[in-house]
Amino acid sequence: MAETIFSKIVRKEIPADILYEDNLCLAFRDINPQAPVHILVIPKEPIAKLSDIESKDHALMGHLLLTVKRVAEQEGLTNGYRVVINCNHDGGQTVDHLHLHILGGRQMTWPPG
Ligand code: 5GP
Repeated sequence: MAETIFSKIVRKEIPADILYEDNLCLAFRDINPQAPVHILVIPKEPIAKLSDIESKDHALMGHLLLTVKRVAEQEGLTNGYRVVINCNHDGGQTVDHLHLHILGGRQMTWPPG
């Protein structure tokens, strides 16, 4: 797949406000926050989008969700938060490296735009 800016963040070639890192994933603040807390959790492996995951990725996907929980706790989001994965064109995905948005610190509304 074509490389994105997120691979450069993984390799520390461009700066990011990193909140959590392990061998499989990275969590960092979104550069254009849509809520008081807006964090992205990404796999280090550059999977382009949710619709590209395969059975072999099941443990990784679970790990990403557990990382969401860990980072949300770390950020003190005790009242809750929203987790979003935009997938491909109609999902509004703009960076082709799988990422989970954590949005919190305000009341979310529904339906999303
Ligand atoms: P998408 O629209 O693909 O679901 O979300 C991509 C997100 O990546 C957007 O919320 C955007 O603000 C964020 N983003 C894009 N480029 C950068 C960057 O260079 N650094 C950081 N921290 N976030 C970025």
